[in-house]
Amino acid sequence: MAPQNVETRLFINNEFVPGKAGKTFQLINPATEEPTYQVHEATQEDIDLAVKYAKAAQPEWAAKNAAERAAALNALAALIVKPENIDRFAELESVSMGIPKGHYAFQAIISSQFLQHAAGVSLDIKGETSLRTAGRLDLILKQPFGVCGLIIPWNTPLMLACASLGSALATGNVVIMKSSEKAPLTSVYLAQLIKETGLFPAGVVQIVSGMGPTTGAALAQHMEIRKLGFIGSVNTGRKIKEMAAKSNMKNVTCELGGKSPIVVFDDADLAKAAMDAALSISLFSGQACIASSRVYVQDTVREKFVESFKANFKAILSNAGDPLDPATTHGPQADLLQYRHVMGFIERAKADGIAPGMGGNRVGEKGFYIEPTIFFDVPETHDLVKNEIFGPVVVINTFKDEDEALAKANDSEYGLYASVFTKDISRALKFAKGMEAGSIGVNCASPTVSVDMPFGGFKQSGDGRQWGRAGLESWLETKSVFINL
Ligand code: NAD
Repeated sequence: MAPQNVETRLFINNEFVPGKAGKTFQLINPATEEPTYQVHEATQEDIDLAVKYAKAAQPEWAAKNAAERAAALNALAALIVKPENIDRFAELESVSMGIPKGHYAFQAIISSQFLQHAAGVSLDIKGETSLRTAGRLDLILKQPFGVCGLIIPWNTPLMLACASLGSALATGNVVIMKSSEKAPLTSVYLAQLIKETGLFPAGVVQIVSGMGPTTGAALAQHMEIRKLGFIGSVNTGRKIKEMAAKSNMKNVTCELGGKSPIVVFDDADLAKAAMDAALSISLFSGQACIASSRVYVQDTVREKFVESFKANFKAILSNAGDPLDPATTHGPQADLLQYRHVMGFIERAKADGIAPGMGGNRVGEKGFYIEPTIFFDVPETHDLVKNEIFGPVVVINTFKDEDEALAKANDSEYGLYASVFTKDISRALKFAKGMEAGSIGVNCASPTVSVDMPFGGFKQSGDGRQWGRAGLESWLETKSVFINL
């Protein structure tokens, strides 16, 4: 049953309020295609108000001891992992974007760890000193930007919110966050827990729902927002950077899409490689930025690898059904647009004479479910290889030698995650160094990541780094101070 008593208002100045324009938008359950909740929408007036409250709150928040801010984040981290809250987050996400409830708990745990990590590292953020010039002491100070914006996507909203909010808040910034219009409910519930801690003063964190081109653009263009964290697609990232440049040149960091390769050599543990590759593309039914959607296997072991990969891929996504049922392993695509986007790739490939080697169809009559789908031996220039599909669709191609494998892995405008499977240590290190991606898996694949390691993209997958110490640093301005002695 769909969750009851769901809060859908905006969280501004520590109160839940309707949008000033009285507008709402409708959520649709992607598993049933039925309407669920009406969510309040923030417009320019709401964003202006939120910025006003944020400006008022920021000096006091920045003036606190780091330990006080850390205590607030740790309190929130503890609330997130209370079993009843994990359950609530899981249900809200299931009915919004279709993630199987049984796959949710780890997201809440990692979300909590992001906050704890930021809280811990923030206690040890320091600047530097320089004695280079006689008669002077020079200092490098690290200071918050002030009022910041954060725009997140729908695929893992709680984790991405906590990763950025933790870093930004721990370092003394205040944040106005906009969730995705496809999955806003867990962000509103996070706001409820923020309020419950009683440790975040009004205006420090404000969370709004709304559309990208209106609510999101209001943040990207706002003259008093000095830093914006954006997580989403390359196309939107480009628009965000344009808006930032045309308004006040605010600092923008972008975490964008991916088309992650896995390279499997003939000396690898093929069973493990096949399992890890299948798990990677199955994560959230393929709706993960780091999903490994291009597999390159050495031609000598192709048959053996493919047999094992197919079996794993089918088995992991075998149970398509109600995401609220704990037994479900395969959820729907997040909405009709996303379903059409993925099926569009499949249909265009068929029209180009490239038939799927497995799957390629809708599952059932109701809900936006797509079969686990494999295309084999696809030309490297084809749409299927070049562009992010964001569904349970993988391309498996072959290579003959190291040079060909590295060239194919790197022949992409994306560079978020790349993996290599081999027992040869020299080769593994050559690939770790040579593959153009922000994260590299050696004998493992995404989602192998860690809250204390920097995360971000090469090339069009983004700029800057989030998570780890680098994540906190990205929310700090650097100031040089020259002291004449
Ligand atoms: P999206 O770019 O469509 O939307 C992301 C956010 O931007 C949403 O909140 C949306 O409302 C907002 N937005 C859209 N248009 C806007 C505009 N003109 N101005 C301001 N804001 C606007 O992306 P999505 O479909 O929500 O998410 C999927 C994408 O996100 C994929 O490309 C995926 O790879 C990427 N992603 C990246 C990471 C990462 O860490 N690198 C993590 C998760 C998802």
